[in-house]
Amino acid sequence: MSEGIPDLPAYDDAALDKAFATLEAQAREAAAALNDETAVEAFRLEWLGRKQGRLNEVSGRWLKAAPPEAKKALGLRFNTLKAVVEQLLESALGSVQYGSGGDAALKAEAIDITLPGTRRLTGAEHPITRAMNEIVTVFAALGYSVGVGPEVETDFYNFESMNFPPGHPARDTQDTLVVANQERRPLRDRLLLRTHTSPVQMRTMELQPPPVRIVIPGKVHRNDAADATHSPIFHQVEGLCVDASITFSDLKGTLDHAMKALFGSAVKTRFFPSFFPFTEPSADVQISCIFCGGKGCRKCKQSGWIELLGCGMVDPAVFAFAAEKQPAYDSKKISGFAFGMGVERIAMMKYGISEIGSFYAGDMRFLGQFV
Ligand SMILES: [Zn+2]
Repeated sequence: MSEGIPDLPAYDDAALDKAFATLEAQAREAAAALNDETAVEAFRLEWLGRKQGRLNEVSGRWLKAAPPEAKKALGLRFNTLKAVVEQLLESALGSVQYGSGGDAALKAEAIDITLPGTRRLTGAEHPITRAMNEIVTVFAALGYSVGVGPEVETDFYNFESMNFPPGHPARDTQDTLVVANQERRPLRDRLLLRTHTSPVQMRTMELQPPPVRIVIPGKVHRNDAADATHSPIFHQVEGLCVDASITFSDLKGTLDHAMKALFGSAVKTRFFPSFFPFTEPSADVQISCIFCGGKGCRKCKQSGWIELLGCGMVDPAVFAFAAEKQPAYDSKKISGFAFGMGVERIAMMKYGISEIGSFYAGDMRFLGQFV
């Protein structure tokens, strides 16, 4: 125990300062020596105890005995001392709990900054999505908007309105997956998995009069056996442009620009006559081989050219179907072109992929290359 509280020799400021400074020094000295919780509790009792605490004794002996004119000066100094002692107690308590005596607690909270961090996997666009976005971006810059439609489609939108009449041999070229138990419905209402994104052409024209400029990215389904370059599910980007006096040279210029934007400005395009039910005339588009620059290599079968997409001027029969709901699609007043390309084929060329199945296998070693 520390020494008891001496009597106050006088009540002037100098005497009070000296007396309180002595007490404060004693409290600080005692607090500095505290090294465990028992000692801290003893310190608390000695200084702040209700009955025998030293501050209680100061209050009882000094304050009560003081003449009225000295009470205020004494009271102020007493409160300051009490605050100092409480502060000393609090920090002593903190340091014995978490300080030198609290190594275990500290160690439990410690962080080993030499350990490797938690690796967060970075997501990335699937190469199909990336290629589709690149194609859409090229046409968006030309003022095209994006159209979407259902994957489960009616026979009418997938075939009939695209000028594949019932029984037309062109239907056989698109081996179709049909929804079961539809036989009691009229043929045009029967459901199937769309074989191309072309039905969205008709859905768009039915909803809005010309002019129309849309690209239609989407998934399509055909009953094809899977091999290195075929899959029963694949993706297309279809395009449709309808306005007054659209000509075949608009089609050629648009696709030539798009192929240069996708594969580089050195790429050349050429157009060959072809057949699609919904366009007349129709063309296949070839681009100069991006692997050999047109000299001839294994990828282009030594021809220097690669066939990449189909296109043509919209057939008046297609406009006639659209005109049933939007009379402005009068083929005597408007014209248009359409084109369609396979996204997988373009992605395989752009990213040097040889197996179409790689896109769907979900193999992280493959997909990780596109991060
Ligand atoms: Zn080549």
